[in-house]
Formats: sequence, structure tokens, C-alpha cells
Amino acid sequence: MSQKKVVVIGSGFAGLSAATHLAANSCLVTLLEKNESPGGRARKFEHQGFVFDMGPSWYWMPDVFDRYFEHFGKKTSDYYNLIRLDPSYAVVYGENDILNIPANLDEFKAMFEGLEPGAGKRLEEFLAQAKYKYEVGIHDLVTKPSRSIFEFTAPGLLLDMMRMDIFQSMSKHVRKYFSHEKIIRLMEFPVLFLGETADNIPALYSLMNYADIALGTWYPMGGMHEIIKGMVSLAEEKGVKFRYDAEVEEIEIENGIAKRVRLKSGEKIEADVVVAGADYHHVDKHLINPKYSNYTEEYWDKRVMAPSSLLFYIGVNKRLNNLKHHNLFFDEPLGPHADAIYKNPRWPEKPLFYASVPSITDPSVAPEGMENLFLLIPLAPDLEDSEETREKYYGIIMDRLEKISGQEIRSHVIYKRSYAHSDFKADYHAFKGNAYGLANTLLQTAILKPSLKNKKVNNLYYTGQLTVPGPGVPPSLISGHVVAKEVLKENKS
Ligand SMILES: Cc1cc2nc3c(=O)[nH]c(=O)nc-3n(C[C@H](O)[C@H](O)[C@H](O)COP(=O)(O)OP(=O)(O)OC[C@H]3O[C@@H](n4cnc5c(N)ncnc54)[C@H](O)[C@@H]3O)c2cc1C
Repeated sequence: MSQKKVVVIGSGFAGLSAATHLAANSCLVTLLEKNESPGGRARKFEHQGFVFDMGPSWYWMPDVFDRYFEHFGKKTSDYYNLIRLDPSYAVVYGENDILNIPANLDEFKAMFEGLEPGAGKRLEEFLAQAKYKYEVGIHDLVTKPSRSIFEFTAPGLLLDMMRMDIFQSMSKHVRKYFSHEKIIRLMEFPVLFLGETADNIPALYSLMNYADIALGTWYPMGGMHEIIKGMVSLAEEKGVKFRYDAEVEEIEIENGIAKRVRLKSGEKIEADVVVAGADYHHVDKHLINPKYSNYTEEYWDKRVMAPSSLLFYIGVNKRLNNLKHHNLFFDEPLGPHADAIYKNPRWPEKPLFYASVPSITDPSVAPEGMENLFLLIPLAPDLEDSEETREKYYGIIMDRLEKISGQEIRSHVIYKRSYAHSDFKADYHAFKGNAYGLANTLLQTAILKPSLKNKKVNNLYYTGQLTVPGPGVPPSLISGHVVAKEVLKENKS
């Protein structure tokens, strides 16, 4: 395909990945981003020496990032300096009841053995199977455009899929190996990234445990936004033209062909192909004539969205004690909080939360002698998020954070910004204010996900965390590549 004009909407991981793959294959790519800076949910902002990553903070599956840059003859180290965290993270089960998760596998096994005799050995078996799932999953399954069941019917792959417990829940799978409550909480934690509880996530995703335990938790010095900076630089090198403050208001379609996009400013940009990396629902329901929508509002309403979140970006004017870079506060039971997210949407009575202090690893993200603190409470999508409610929850989690870490924090806060549903909607047109897209439930996997291609418009494609393969940074990177391959295959000149 030579010199096709491609418009990519959105500069998140998926849009950047799609744009770069297409530009590297001779397309003339213009990337349009509504915000003033790139990265989408992975933007950053700075305030008086504090540098805050606005969204993702866990760098998992380093091989996916490596492969992304290697595809273009580059290395991650050409763009950022990656270090492995040790401990990987801390899990807080209560006051004086904290597990620091070691990066070293033998120490990890010993920790399990200490909690439950025999669990160290069983972990080996669990991980051997999880490794197999990771390899087939990440190298094969997620790279499929999932437009037809026949993509999955090759005999070898079918056999592989049967061995991967597609139809068993993660929760049952973990309990086959372990019974200690702390181990179960720990092993069920990674699938929360996929937007549902372990009861509703297929055991295929124990591949996430392999990613966690065997591949490790990494951190790009300077912050997660360094990945975006690297991707933008590579995209520019390949010829992608970036336009910021360029919100698309309509994809103009004539006789089933997307012809151009119209920006909020009124400017029109011609296109041979449009790849929409903005939230799928926004594109499908607000950017195109309804007669071309892939799905009805009823369909969207029935989707299980991954959670939204209440976030706090905080500058503290002293160093903090007794916290690690990543801290999971599991000091309240998961059941009622999960119920408040998935079954009876409401603000949880006793929320679990996550606290990240990247300045423990990286002095560049806070002024000297100070700390960069990021707090996150996962929440049901579409809740009302008034200032009063945000403050109430700030109080609830700060009480616990101060008590468990044994120090005053609030009186040392010199900067605080909250972020929740209404911000996700305003900044990203996020459906129901979701943070992480669409959950990876069994009924929302592969061909059952919103399709990466419009069914009535032959040159309109979708990418990102609401389509295949799913939510999270590595899947979004892969999503951009998968859609680019489809565009290139179907639009040869
Ligand atoms: C708080 C938070 C924490 C997270 N933590 C992690 C983590 O630790 N690890 C991990 O792997 N994943 C994490 N995730 C998930 C991960 O960040 C996302 O899955 C990923 O960034 C999604 O990328 P995307 O390209 O699909 O979407 P986005 O990043 O949302 O990109 C879409 C882009 O489209 C733009 N856009 C929207 N409408 C228009 C329009 N009309 N015109 C032009 N542009 C438009 C938006 O501004 C945005 O830039 C987290 C997400 C959040 C929110």
C-alpha cells in the first residue's frame, strides 16, 4: 500500500502504536488529539517540581514493550531507563501485617511456603501452566483481530485453548492450588487489572500471575510517561504528523466510505482510512451518523465496563516512612467493595485502595526531600463524583494510610488534585467515566468484544482498550499493531 492518507484519532498507547506501524508502512499518517499533550490516560502533568503520571503506574510484561520498539529496529533503552523494582510491591493486610513481595522467585516461593506448607511447590506447578498460557496468549491469541471464529480453529490452537482453562473462573483455578486467604488475595489481585473480580475472569488470565511473579514489576525512570515520549519520538521519526488541541467532531461518511474528519474548529481533513483510537463508544455513538453505528445504546449499556477510579495526585513536603513504591491496601474485605463496583453500583463503604510513591525510586518526580504520592480507589462507572464525596473518601483513605504507615501525612500535603468520573468523561470522552475500558470477562473476550472494524463503513477501524485484545498498556500497544495489520491487508493500492 503506498501513500494512503490515514487519520488516527487519539494519542493514547493504541493510537500511537497504530499510527507508527502505519507510517512505517508508507502511509501518510495524521494523528489528531483533542488534548494539548499526548498519552491519553497516560498523560503527565507537573506542579512546582512534582511530576505526576496521570494514569498507569505498573510496568508489567516488559517483553511486549521490547517487542514494540524492536519491531522498528530500536530498544526500550534508546528511549528510557528501565529498572526492576524489589520488592515488586507491598500488600497491606492490616496494621503490622504487610507482605513485601520479593522480586526473586526463590524468595517468593519461600514466602508462600511460610504461609502455607506445600504452597511453594504448588506455585511452581501453577507458574509452569501460567507461563504456557502467557506464551500462547501474548504471542498468539492477543495478536488476532478476532473478527471471525475461524481465526481460532487451527487444530493446534484449539488444543492449546482447551489446555488454558478458558471456561473455568480464575477464582476456582487459584483455589485448586492454594487455600491460605492471603495467598488467594495475592494471586487474585492481578486480574483486577482486567476489570472484573476473579469469579468472572477466565482462568486463562493466570498468565497475569506469570507476568507478576516471573517477569516482574518494572519502572521507567522519569515515570510512565517516558514510554509515551519514546513512542511519540519514534512516531515522528517514521513521519507521523501530530496535531494537538484537535478534537474530532465528526467522521464524515458518504455512501459507506469515511471521506474526511471535521474538527471542532471546523477544519476538515481528508482521509482514505480512519483509525479511531478514542473511546469506542464515543466514536460509534457521537462521531458518526447513527445509521453507521456498529452497536446500539442497549448493547453498550449491557457491556461490563472495567471500573472507573477516584485518584489523588499529592505533593508531600517531607519523606514518607513505611511505604514502598507500590502499596496495595487490602486491609478491608474485597467482597463488599467488589459488590459496590460490579453488582450494586455505589460508593463503597470501606474501599480498598492503592498508594504509589514513585519518588521512593525516582528523585526526579518530586522536589528534594519531598514525596510524590498517588492514591487510587477503584469505583463503579457512572457514579456522581461531587467535590464533597471526593473529600469524604480522601479522609477515609488518609485515616488508614496515616494509621498503618504510622505518620502524619495530611498536614504535610502542599499540593492536591483529585480526578474521577467527570474528569475521565471531560478529558477522554470516556463511556460512563470508565478508567480502564471494557472488562475482560468470558463473554467479552476475543470475537465477543466490540469489533475492530466498522461493519458498514469499509475504511473505518477502531483500536484501544474497548476493543481487542483488552484493557491495560501492553494490550493497547498490541491493539494498535493488530489494527494496523488489518488496515494494511485490506487497503492495498
Ligand atoms: C488511573 C489509571 C491507572 C491505570 N493503571 C494501569 C497500569 O498500572 N498498568 C497498565 O498496564 N494499565 C493501566 N491502566 C490502563 C491503561 O492506562 C489503558 O488501558 C491505556 O492507557 C489505554 O490506552 P488507549 O490508547 O486505548 O486509550 P486512551 O489513553 O484513552 O487514548 C485515547 C485518546 O483519544 C483522545 N480522544 C478522545 N476523543 C477524541 C476526539 N473526539 N478527538 C481527538 N482525540 C480524542 C483522548 O484524549 C485520548 O488521548 C490505567 C488506567 C488508568 C486510567
